[in-house]
Amino acid sequence: MNTLLTGHARFLKGYWRRHRKRFNDLARDGQSPPAMVIACADSRVAPELIFDCAPGEIFVVRNVSNLVPPYEPDAGRHGTSAALEFAVTALQVRSIVVLGHSQCGGIRALMRGPDGGHGDFIESWMKIAQKARARVCDVPDAQAQSFEALCHRCEHESIRESLKNLLTFPWIAERVGQGSLSLGGLHFNVQNGRLETVV
Ligand SMILES: [Zn+2]
Repeated sequence: MNTLLTGHARFLKGYWRRHRKRFNDLARDGQSPPAMVIACADSRVAPELIFDCAPGEIFVVRNVSNLVPPYEPDAGRHGTSAALEFAVTALQVRSIVVLGHSQCGGIRALMRGPDGGHGDFIESWMKIAQKARARVCDVPDAQAQSFEALCHRCEHESIRESLKNLLTFPWIAERVGQGSLSLGGLHFNVQNGRLETVV
């Protein structure tokens, strides 16, 4: 906690002072970010740093393994779906980017398989990417590949799964159909800082 507060003191003296006008404008006028980014909660994958964005430029939701669940309008507490609804229908973002990354802990857990029911939430959450896992593991050459290689492929496949799930939200599919919203997938390499487009 102290480290965070020391960092905030540096922020006030440095970044905030240099960008005071921008913060004041955003407080007065509200936000209108053109893009939404769905990223992993992983501490190495901060979208504002990776895309070199200023405050107000990207609307970010972060969760375990940057997953988008399918459209399920029930009584569940759907944090990611709520963020999507706000970004698309209220802020009217023009693009949504699913940002995956290398060495993703959630994907590694998914690839290791069920842990026998330990844990309350992660296993159930990661089932969103179950089809991605199957596409990677249920192929003839899967046994011949290293665990690292399989995880890398699953990171890509799970981004594709999330992109598919985005289109199950009616207000997203409608806007994509009209051409007012675009969807994209990117994979960030923690080791070399590079981005790869996932199609
Ligand atoms: Zn991750």
